[in-house]
Amino acid sequence: MEAMRFYLPGCALLGLAGVLALAPPARAQARPNLLLITLDTVRADHLGIYGDRAARTPHLDALARQGVWFEYAFTTVPLTLPSHAAILTGTYPFDNGVRSQPGFRLEDRLPTLATILDRAGYATGAVLGSSILDRRFGLARGFQAYDDQISGAVAEEYEGLPASKRSAAEVVRRGWAWLEAERRHSPARPFFLWLHFYDAHLPYLPHRGAGGSFPATYDGEIAYMDACLGRLFADLQRAGLYDNTAIFVVADHGEGLGDHGESTHGFFIYDSTIRVPLIVKAPGAGPQGIRGAGPAQPNDELASTVDIAPTALRLLDLPVPAEMQGTPRLAAVLGRGRDADTPAYAETFFPLLSMGWNPLRALISGPSGRLMKYIEAPRPELYDLSRDPRETRDLAAAQQARANSMLAALDDFVRARAPRAAPDSRMPVDAATARLFSSLGYAGAVRGGTPVFVTNLPDPKDRVHEEEAILTALRTYEAHDYPRALRQLRAILASDPRQPMALDALGTIQFAEHDLNAARATYRALIAAAPYDSTAYAELAHTEALLGHRAEAERLYRKNFALDPSNGRALRELGLLLIEDGKLAEAKGDLERALALQPGDPFALNGLGQIQAQQGDFAAAAQSLEQAVAADASQLPPRLNLGFVYLRLNQPQKTAQLMEQTLRRAPRAPQAYAELAVARLELGDRAAAAAAVRRALALDPQNSLARQAQAALQRQP
Ligand SMILES: [Zn+2]
Repeated sequence: MEAMRFYLPGCALLGLAGVLALAPPARAQARPNLLLITLDTVRADHLGIYGDRAARTPHLDALARQGVWFEYAFTTVPLTLPSHAAILTGTYPFDNGVRSQPGFRLEDRLPTLATILDRAGYATGAVLGSSILDRRFGLARGFQAYDDQISGAVAEEYEGLPASKRSAAEVVRRGWAWLEAERRHSPARPFFLWLHFYDAHLPYLPHRGAGGSFPATYDGEIAYMDACLGRLFADLQRAGLYDNTAIFVVADHGEGLGDHGESTHGFFIYDSTIRVPLIVKAPGAGPQGIRGAGPAQPNDELASTVDIAPTALRLLDLPVPAEMQGTPRLAAVLGRGRDADTPAYAETFFPLLSMGWNPLRALISGPSGRLMKYIEAPRPELYDLSRDPRETRDLAAAQQARANSMLAALDDFVRARAPRAAPDSRMPVDAATARLFSSLGYAGAVRGGTPVFVTNLPDPKDRVHEEEAILTALRTYEAHDYPRALRQLRAILASDPRQPMALDALGTIQFAEHDLNAARATYRALIAAAPYDSTAYAELAHTEALLGHRAEAERLYRKNFALDPSNGRALRELGLLLIEDGKLAEAKGDLERALALQPGDPFALNGLGQIQAQQGDFAAAAQSLEQAVAADASQLPPRLNLGFVYLRLNQPQKTAQLMEQTLRRAPRAPQAYAELAVARLELGDRAAAAAAVRRALALDPQNSLARQAQAALQRQP
């Protein structure tokens, strides 16, 4: 992705202070508003308020001084989906079941901030910065608006490219538009708005605007987000909404940036990826802080991201449901003493699921000034976070008694909070996760008659170089050196031929290079090594379809959907295959079910429109195709299909308009000229029709619609 050197529009250009600023100030309303801001991939120690003197984060720093910032806040999992599931439900991953990604989804049984506030009469809206949190992963429940339709994301799904991301300016603009519409509609109704910012996640882009220019670096992206948030906070103030809004800012996880040999996140649970910024401004607090002058020091209570939901509910004066496991940090947030001491817990199953290595979990506990962290691994680790924040001195061997007591505390902690666990299990899991782990032969691991967390699988810290080598190979490929990337991956697979992440990376680049037979063999090996990985089936299915092995592709898409019943894309691909096989009724059913799972999917809508047109229902076809064009204006097939359907509906004026618009986007589309020619002919403009025919046949001499138009022109001189 190295050639991406364009400038995105800055916040300053977007005119955020719109209608809302002119609306009457918010009247006294029953409850305060809630604004939840999640900053993807932002380490605590890269914000000014957390001591980074080089950081350009004045707005977040100012927000912290108006409220509170937690010096020691920890996420539960250093991965986007499980971390957000814990934030929204206030529960630990071993309880909510979202242990990792992909392959996990939040089930419907737990209340979330959104479901509770929706029921309490709030307007609830969310804007996502990346398709990694799209609705099929289960976080959309309770949101009246869940803005996850990120253009291009669907197209990229099977190409193995990173999911597309929205800029901070775009997230803020969409959030503000939702808020304006809400306030116009019901000005006194309290709101809950969740904004997810993905900018600090790779790949980095440069930005200009928002009062500065920002380089394409990790810190540049953080500074850019801060600038956009500054605009948002200013607009909230102008609209009279700021003071009565509780604002939470938290990161879902940090970024390795080379610490402990880890460049990104998910693999380890050192503080570089689990210690996150957590800033809270209570309702009632304004620019001068809640007591007229904000705090000068961070709060040193030990906090977890599971504390966010219960704290928010208490601030809004709503009851905290029994299912929530976090500790309300009300005293800290209101500056009234100390809250209950609770250890912080973190885990990662990424090493197990992606690499086949032992997972990791950790407990952090102790009084401020003597915070200890124990990491359970084949070789456990113990750190004194107060004296050694970079975790450079492992004390596990030197302080064995303390290490043992922290291991016992870690066991007790999990057991006490996982009521559905089997009584003899040291790794309690929900049913779905249990099935997944038993398919790995993992949950059955037994030592001395008791299932154990630590098995004889490799210790991730002994193999981190392998994971980094795979990432290096992917970067080599992104820099367009395919042969070298292949050599790098083959070297890893030579020593570990069933390494899932290496197989996945190899298949991805073979597929992208159109080496379909090689990709097919690699994906088959991946499925043999990781039969629980539903996306592997989708990748193989797509490859088989392109190779013309349609029956096999259909079988694999069905398997993909069976493993992941929330996956509308598998159904959509299946439906599109069935159209080509002429099985229209079956295809229609699959596409309709796909659209129920992911409303607005332009590819499914286009397929549905095709079927409706083939069945002669042109009015319904026009409706589906209009929705497809609205969902993703850049796709050519729905436009061409729609233009054709308008002709069948005797609306040549609409066809002509649509094709002229389409040709401005895609000036070398012969079919668009052909449809334009027919439309012009029907409208009686023979000269324009003849010109369009010439353009169509110049681009594609065989175009049958253009030839028909040409024949018609010659027939009626
Ligand atoms: Zn993330």
